[in-house]
Amino acid sequence: MTPRKVPFFNYAALFKQREEEYLDLMREVLSRGAFILQRDLEHFEQNLAEYLDVNYVLGVADGTNALKLSLIAAGVESGDEVIVPSHTYVASAAAIHYVGANPVFVECGSDHLMDVDAIHDAISPKTRCLMPVQLNGRTANMDRIQAISEDTGIPIVEDSAQALGSKFKGKSAGSFGVAGTFSFYPAKVLGCFGDGGAVITNDPEVAERISLLRDHGRNEKGEVITWGTNCRLDNLQAAVLDLKLKSFDDDVARRREIARRYIDGLNQIDALVLPPGPEDDSDHFDVYQNFEIECEQRDELQAFLSAAGIGTIVQFGGKPVHMYPLGFEKTPLPKTEKLYERMLLLPMHTALSDEDIGFVIEKIRSFYAV
Ligand SMILES: *Cc1c(COP(=O)(O)O)cnc(C)c1O
Repeated sequence: MTPRKVPFFNYAALFKQREEEYLDLMREVLSRGAFILQRDLEHFEQNLAEYLDVNYVLGVADGTNALKLSLIAAGVESGDEVIVPSHTYVASAAAIHYVGANPVFVECGSDHLMDVDAIHDAISPKTRCLMPVQLNGRTANMDRIQAISEDTGIPIVEDSAQALGSKFKGKSAGSFGVAGTFSFYPAKVLGCFGDGGAVITNDPEVAERISLLRDHGRNEKGEVITWGTNCRLDNLQAAVLDLKLKSFDDDVARRREIARRYIDGLNQIDALVLPPGPEDDSDHFDVYQNFEIECEQRDELQAFLSAAGIGTIVQFGGKPVHMYPLGFEKTPLPKTEKLYERMLLLPMHTALSDEDIGFVIEKIRSFYAV
């Protein structure tokens, strides 16, 4: 018997799960010569809009560009400031940088999401946008962030790359501000076979701007009426995403079930802090893009699990964005920095079996000798 291996993520399994269906679909789309801005993209956009209960979805090249175009559409310009949590992927900050603005980093709270209490102190006369990041498949308390936005007139652009299908008080992640963004990177909750992304909005003018920006500033007649760029979601990827969207609720249900199993198996270990359970708080519907725990002796635990054939990850290279060598002012964020010494992602994806999860739980329990 070969020993069990639980890789952190299994890219090949994504394809293998429904190989024949994908190949049939791709053959059909490719045979039609439907590559760019074709009906498969249109269908996916319509179906995703319906799924998320928003007016507009625009497929774009990837999640980073979704943020860039959203910031431009929200009116963020050179020299402006955008408030963003430092516990995020570098892409959130890079999008701000590449529209000429400056990220202003804030702490995260005990749920690992933007600390709402830290926003007020970060606001300056230059602040032009709030960018909450709906990390790990959970949506922040958007009532409070929207209240700040309404009081100050500063618009919200949500980086919801990790939170497709997540909700706060029944409303979809990405739908709270002027625009919200998604990534369809293969390891995301809804992943394609390459890069992909989307912008969602309820504002017809924002939708129109994104639609122009993603296709060289061209209108429906093909006339260039403004500056744009090439930032389209491939039609073939859109066709794959549209197929996967049909069973996406099952994927989310499975992720929530895995989270439940982890919590039931690990909640007696005092050395761990676990994420909220799927039924813990009726205001939140979490999709568990990641299962991010906090733990004592993190590096030792990670090495122990690795030796047992279990892949884990410390998100974002183990450093919060404000500590990257990118010329930021040295403002310490002690809560975030502390979290980065303790946090760890356990395997979380739909190709995990119950036996895999049981094995991970068993190894963690044996590390802490419980
Ligand atoms: C994945 C991700 C992005 C960027 O998405 P890409 O499609 O890889 O460009 C942005 N923000 C967060 C929080 C992400 O996890």
